[in-house]
Amino acid sequence: MLLTDLNAPGGIGSNCLLLQLDTLNIVIDSGLHPKQIGRAALPKFEKLRSLNIDLIFLTHCHLDHLGSLPLLAKEFPNTPIIASRDTKQFFKRMLQNSYQVMDRQRLEKGIGDYPLFGYRDISAVNRQMLGIMPGQPRHFESLSGERVTFTLHESGHVPGAVGIEFEYHHRRIFHTGDVLFDDTALLDGARFPLGDMDTVIMETTRGTTQRVNSRKDEIDRLLKTIEHTASHGGSVLIPVFALGRMQELMCVLHEAFAKGTLKRLPIHVSGMGIELMNQFDRIAQKNPRIRFRKKMFRETGAIRFPEKHRPGSDGPAVYLLSSGMMVENTPSYRAAAALLGSHQNTICFVGYCDPDAPGGKLLKVRQGEKFLFKAYGKTVQALAHIEKFDLSSHADRESILEYGLARHPRSIVLTHGDPEARQWFKESILELDPKCKVVDPVPLKPVTV
Ligand SMILES: [Zn+2]
Ligand SMILES: [Zn+2]
Repeated sequence: MLLTDLNAPGGIGSNCLLLQLDTLNIVIDSGLHPKQIGRAALPKFEKLRSLNIDLIFLTHCHLDHLGSLPLLAKEFPNTPIIASRDTKQFFKRMLQNSYQVMDRQRLEKGIGDYPLFGYRDISAVNRQMLGIMPGQPRHFESLSGERVTFTLHESGHVPGAVGIEFEYHHRRIFHTGDVLFDDTALLDGARFPLGDMDTVIMETTRGTTQRVNSRKDEIDRLLKTIEHTASHGGSVLIPVFALGRMQELMCVLHEAFAKGTLKRLPIHVSGMGIELMNQFDRIAQKNPRIRFRKKMFRETGAIRFPEKHRPGSDGPAVYLLSSGMMVENTPSYRAAAALLGSHQNTICFVGYCDPDAPGGKLLKVRQGEKFLFKAYGKTVQALAHIEKFDLSSHADRESILEYGLARHPRSIVLTHGDPEARQWFKESILELDPKCKVVDPVPLKPVTV
């Protein structure tokens, strides 16, 4: 097997992996690099142009995996795109949102390349995409007669997310995708295949992170923080990703209100997360592993975050707003600008924040220091409490390592991680199973596995 990582800058970025099994060419994911701008954010599709691509897979709907799929689909309009049935429900809304953001940035930042694709291209992806049920093997034969069997396996990362198993000439190859083994309030954890494998391609996101508290302890701590803040007359902002995290926290608050572990409070919710709730509700009816129901929105009394509302002005409330990294001009950014200046309030970060994003910068600010809301040209003294909770939707490094090694693979390929994170995996694998070959692909350089 020949493998080429098309994410030129390396690390976690525009995920796109070319897998070549003899004459069979398979591409897994087609993301956009979150820290690059314009066409520099694309995977290096140039490397694919001389090839016939037989299959394209989409593991899940985060933009670092999905964001450039319309452009890849345009290059290979006859290649089937395989995703889970649930992912097929979400991807359009995610891409439409990405289109709207790019359209805005074209004007605001003068990026001539944007938007990189249009609504027509999104519809073309929809026509090209086969939404299939996880757990059911599918056989594929290429035009040249090469055969492969593939099976999607739910990976627990966000609804619809899957790992991909290939069986090719009696070789078993497994790509974990982004994975979470733990159950959350929203979703059951990964259901991954067991037994021996020849190659495991694994994500390494949390290679440098050691878990301190269990997820349950972190949820309890979050609820206590909300209770404490509200009892002192303050409001809580929780910046969240619209896909998954917002609905997970709705499930958490719904349960806490129902059990009386948290006194009822007004909840404000924003934007795309609300629309995704409708889709969650539809797919949850067919997929019992997803626990979110739209009625939770009603039963918690959640309301859409009004444009004119000044957070904190009507007494204590919870603001469950996107974006998760508090990107400029998003609802969470606007609410932070209103809440940060009062010591009664708390801002709770519950997911990954890029250190260069406003959320990442705010996490480094000490109480009493000044924080610049660049988009508004105003500085606010950071008096609110700023807390971080470990509710990652990526598996702990130990559990992913344990899963990989228990497959007794001849080789493990490292993906989706910063260099230091990959280094931890590399060293740990070599220590625990010195015979296992560890492959850390150099971007754009084909490597034989
Ligand atoms: Zn992801
Ligand atoms: Zn990812």
